[in-house]
Amino acid sequence: MSEIVWQKDNVRIVRFGTRTPWPPSHANAYLIDDEVVTLVDTGLCLDESIQMIEDYLNSRKLRIHRIVITHGHIDHYGAVGAFRERYPSAVVLCHKADADKLTRKVSEGIEEASETMREFFTSQGVPETAVHMSGEMLRILDGVVCPVYDIEFLKGGEVLESGAIKLKVVHVPGHSPGQVVLYDEKHGILFSGDHVLSKKPPTPLIEMTGEGKFFNNIIHYVDSLHYVRNFKVQLVLPGHWRTFEDLSTKVDALLKYYEMKKWETKNVLEKAGRPMNAYEIARALFPEMPEGVFFIGVSEAIGYLSLLEKDGEVVADKTSHPVLYHLV
Ligand SMILES: [Zn+2]
Ligand SMILES: [Zn+2]
Repeated sequence: MSEIVWQKDNVRIVRFGTRTPWPPSHANAYLIDDEVVTLVDTGLCLDESIQMIEDYLNSRKLRIHRIVITHGHIDHYGAVGAFRERYPSAVVLCHKADADKLTRKVSEGIEEASETMREFFTSQGVPETAVHMSGEMLRILDGVVCPVYDIEFLKGGEVLESGAIKLKVVHVPGHSPGQVVLYDEKHGILFSGDHVLSKKPPTPLIEMTGEGKFFNNIIHYVDSLHYVRNFKVQLVLPGHWRTFEDLSTKVDALLKYYEMKKWETKNVLEKAGRPMNAYEIARALFPEMPEGVFFIGVSEAIGYLSLLEKDGEVVADKTSHPVLYHLV
């Protein structure tokens, strides 16, 4: 589906709910129909989603001049290569920390990282079978990604002028290392990507950086939430679900959610009365979690544990294998 979410004179912003085969079953792409026609996120590389955006472009006799990717998750950039093929002069912009992901199939990233990932997750108590199953699942995603090879890097602070709309790029690491939000201060519009969503807290996943280090997203995420809380905003255009207006209320709800999760995690350790590894804690926090997507639960558990470590409530014993988390 598509809807006009903002309009002033002849300038429009259109939201496209592009289909995803997993919950929440869609991701938003936005078209800024202004002098510089800008696509913010693309959806997956699925014909029906691409056609939906093309139909709008054709109805207004437009061409895409610029594609901005809010972050390197496939439901937001999957079709980038397909749009680039249709509009070869369109500039593709993405934060440097996420740009690499746009240049390859999902499985290529896994091959490169697999040994380090395996070591990391087994050091967190994850069984080998679950690590293997998850690698296989990720390979299936190759079919919905069309890579792109020349990308202009964003670092934050740039202003992307479209005509009436002027978007300031703000780097908000957390949900992913290269997550950006786009802020038009004059009109109070914020493209929030997956940084602030209305219905569900965005899961900051553990990711590996180029140097084989792990990027602990939740710590950065909470800092970045505080950072955007007081932006003067009248309309938030998120990466999923409908648009909303009350940014600070949503941010406060998210901060409260992470406080609660921290408390639940501490409670798991208290109840057990012994040190536990991250996989055990994830299992206790998310008993329904299927093995193939364990990394989501383990990423969350490690995130909450690192928030507790930061508060001085938990210590990680890294000399044990798997790593054990103790209450202080
Ligand atoms: Zn995302
Ligand atoms: Zn998303």
